[in-house]
Amino acid sequence: MAEDRAQLRAELRREVSRLCQRFTDEYWRTLDAENAYPAEFVRAMSDAAFLSVLIPEQYGGLGLGVTEASIILEEIHRSGGNAAACHAQMYIMGTLLRHGSEHQKQTYLPSVASGEVRLQAFGVTEPNSGTDTTSLQTRAIRDGDHYVINGQKVFISRVQHSDLMLLLARTTPLDQVERKSDGLSVFLIDLREAPDEQFTAQPIETMMTHHSTTVFFDNLRIPASSLIGEEGKGFRYILDSMNAERILIAAECIGDGDWFIDRSTSYANERVVFNRPIGQNQGVAFPIARAYANIRAADLMRYRAAELFDNDEPCGAEANMAKMLAADASWEAANVAMQTHGGYGFAREYDIERKFRETRLYQVAPISTNLILSYISQHVLGLPRSF
Ligand SMILES: Cc1cc2nc3c(=O)[nH]c(=O)nc-3n(C[C@H](O)[C@H](O)[C@H](O)COP(=O)(O)OP(=O)(O)OC[C@H]3O[C@@H](n4cnc5c(N)ncnc54)[C@H](O)[C@@H]3O)c2cc1C
Repeated sequence: MAEDRAQLRAELRREVSRLCQRFTDEYWRTLDAENAYPAEFVRAMSDAAFLSVLIPEQYGGLGLGVTEASIILEEIHRSGGNAAACHAQMYIMGTLLRHGSEHQKQTYLPSVASGEVRLQAFGVTEPNSGTDTTSLQTRAIRDGDHYVINGQKVFISRVQHSDLMLLLARTTPLDQVERKSDGLSVFLIDLREAPDEQFTAQPIETMMTHHSTTVFFDNLRIPASSLIGEEGKGFRYILDSMNAERILIAAECIGDGDWFIDRSTSYANERVVFNRPIGQNQGVAFPIARAYANIRAADLMRYRAAELFDNDEPCGAEANMAKMLAADASWEAANVAMQTHGGYGFAREYDIERKFRETRLYQVAPISTNLILSYISQHVLGLPRSF
């Protein structure tokens, strides 16, 4: 059984890698320069069924786990690409599969699995609350068979390339709940039905191509059936998505890290200065070796967290640690690659600077390193709460 799983994962890795080879450095470099969405790549991933990895077979998906999903995203990054255009579907799935109704699953999952409907937007962050998620101000108020949504979200990615959005909004005011995490609810919103005057998305230009937007809800009416699970329990539900997201982002960082190491070792072997390959200097080789070791260590935590998630066991600590260790390791590897390449690291045609910009994001999003350290201090080590 374990052998079958290992074989399946190895085969999956090979297939994703094969698909990714069609999308060259030049493809990603051009998209980056034009701030364009990789529609062709996302279509190919969807057609190959990779994006439906977590959707159970009964709804037309591959019916695999977060471990397999993480392998897919890792391979995209390992190839020099970027999974940000299409990864949200995988982490949103945790909330939908574990807490969505049978009706919601039957309505959406088959068309998401086939690629006909895009589930790529995850609306949590707000300008006035930032990392302090439970202070978010977007309100959803029940009105007969509908909810009416008002508020603003920021940095919400892929809204303009998605048909559905998973939204976290407050249904009971903060001063009427016992705990700050109560009174928040999750909705699966069909953006295709949202009228322009009730819902708008304004692009935010960022350091790397990420298709983020500020979104405004102005009395947006959505059917009450959009609510996932019970009203007021959304924060608990969304933690499933957030843990999956941390594990999947960790895998993307591992993919980036290995890409940087590959490029660094090739360059350090080829580049000759002072009549010898620069990699012969331990001042060049050791930082690459250290970054490699840190990537491998982070990778172990990523697999441990994914295993716990797939077994439905608590994985908050491991998911957070995996994300932090992998983001640190990929950022270290990015800096090492820049240094190893000397001036050429800054030249766009080498792609180091693009991947360097891309992997820097993970120190901040989807959760910043400080907030992970705070989680470990408080929830794992029992240190006093700081906020
Ligand atoms: C490109 C991009 C794409 C994104 N996509 C999405 C998306 O699709 N959906 C979504 O919901 N969000 C998205 N985000 C938002 C992202 O999750 C947030 O930016 C991130 O969680 C940090 O929130 P903030 O920017 O408000 O920072 P803030 O909360 O304002 O924090 C600023 C800094 O202060 C630090 N800090 C704050 N409070 C403390 C404290 N108590 N102790 C120590 N340090 C602290 C933080 O660590 C951070 O470094 C995206 C962001 C980016 C940049």
